Amino acid sequence: MSRISTARATAWCLIALTIFLVVLEAWSRHTAYRSLLAQNSIAVENVAQAAEEHVEGAMNTVSWLLDGIVERVETDGIEPGEQGRLQDYLTTRLNKKNSALQGLFVHDARGALLVATDAHWARGVTAAGRAYFDHHRLRADRELHIGPPIVSRITGEWVITLSRRWNDREGRFAGIVLATIPVRYFEQYYDRFSVGKQGSLMLALADGTVVAGRPAGKGLIGTSAAGTPFFAFAQRSGPRGTAMLKAHFDQTERLMSYRRVEDYPLMVVAALAKEEILASWWEVTRRECAAIGVMLAMVCVLGGWLVSHIRLKQRLQHQLQLAQADLQAKNATLDRLARTDALTGLDNRRHFDERMAAETARAAREGTCVSLVLVDIDFFKRYNDMHGHTAGDDCLRIVAAALGSAAHRPADMAARYGGEEFAILLPGTDGDGALQVAESARAAVRSLALPHEANTAGIVTISAGVASFFPDDADEARALIEAADGALYRAKEAGRNRVEAASTRPGGATPACRRPG
Ligand code: GH3
Ligand code: MG
Ligand code: MG
Repeated sequence: MSRISTARATAWCLIALTIFLVVLEAWSRHTAYRSLLAQNSIAVENVAQAAEEHVEGAMNTVSWLLDGIVERVETDGIEPGEQGRLQDYLTTRLNKKNSALQGLFVHDARGALLVATDAHWARGVTAAGRAYFDHHRLRADRELHIGPPIVSRITGEWVITLSRRWNDREGRFAGIVLATIPVRYFEQYYDRFSVGKQGSLMLALADGTVVAGRPAGKGLIGTSAAGTPFFAFAQRSGPRGTAMLKAHFDQTERLMSYRRVEDYPLMVVAALAKEEILASWWEVTRRECAAIGVMLAMVCVLGGWLVSHIRLKQRLQHQLQLAQADLQAKNATLDRLARTDALTGLDNRRHFDERMAAETARAAREGTCVSLVLVDIDFFKRYNDMHGHTAGDDCLRIVAAALGSAAHRPADMAARYGGEEFAILLPGTDGDGALQVAESARAAVRSLALPHEANTAGIVTISAGVASFFPDDADEARALIEAADGALYRAKEAGRNRVEAASTRPGGATPACRRPG
């Protein structure tokens, strides 16, 4: 893996891990949120159902009671003599255990109170002007009428009215029978439910008029919820429904569940404040988010440290590789410089000695021939004297290049032996081959035609001594050099600008790979 991709891969792994943890946490909290809402929906629906059954029971009881009273006043009449008995009848019906009822009343066709459950109320109290009275007076039907909440003229408290019309024997409007239920009857019942500080239980008429509300919305008695988002939702959704809505009176979002009361124009609404439902959820969410945040911060810090550490390590490795490559290149240069003669560019004497020893040993081992040509520039001292040392150096470079080109084979080696002397090592080459190489080297130098007035030929020439033999062992390198040197000496003696071959080894033996004679 490359330097950058390792650090990037580590960074991406940490980022992926972080995203995974955040998504996992978000998913877990979302699941908890939905489950909490589902549980509370069931709870609020149960509360609404209990409230509906409660109000339905109360309405049934009062409705039957009114039926009985209407039946009685229509049958027995309401003559003054009858009123005492009716008073007893009503008082009996006002069962003390039935806390729903505040009172029962019988009014005549003008609204005057004829009989009530409390005899003291009868004097001077009238229903004239009340909406429920006009309702029955102007309509022939005998249905139960549930009126909006009003403040009782007798007790001064909020009550709702349930009333029926009663007729005389001719079927004309003779008055109404009325029952009042104090609003507190419902409120006391609703107080038993724990719906939180902002939750509420409400009773409303079908037209949206609020009858009772606890604990939130208790100041709403008599106001209308018609036109609110909740009321629109209830209109759409039929006999029952549950939804998260904002209450119109305080803009608080609540989980609201309503039920219409069967057979009566009433509905009950139970509501739990979203804020209170989610309080514990928020607490856990905040705690877990804080923990995740701390963990993420640690992952970021440790991850950043890890990535920078990896990058640093990789940068150092890269620099080390560069330094190693640079060192190798420098070593190669040093090696080459250590083997090369600075002036001529040929191999130097040190390298020549190593190759000479190695090739002699190899030839001895493999039984092959090895040849050596020693070359010396003729009258070079005089050249220097005439042309100067710098020109002498130039001459050496040119002659060296010519000698180098005379050694063709890969194993051949042209080296500067010292001063104006050169050596051409020819492994695997016999005496005839070596003579050819020496002659071609001499011809190459001659063909340069470098002016050398102090030389007999008038140009720069070389003399060469050649020696070739099958060495018996590695130590014979020295003998080969001496033999070539001897041949070179003879070439000088013979007048220079020529090639001489050694005919014997030092010590007298004939070079083995040269035809004798
Ligand atoms: P011979 O024909 O007998 O070889 O005569 P020679 O003058 O060449 O021989 P000698 O050995 O007397 O002189 C060699 C001269 O080569 C001596 C020195 O001035 C010259 N020489 C050796 N090394 C260098 C070098 O690196 N540069 C130059 N310019 N001259 C060199
Ligand atoms: Mg010399
Ligand atoms: Mg010389």
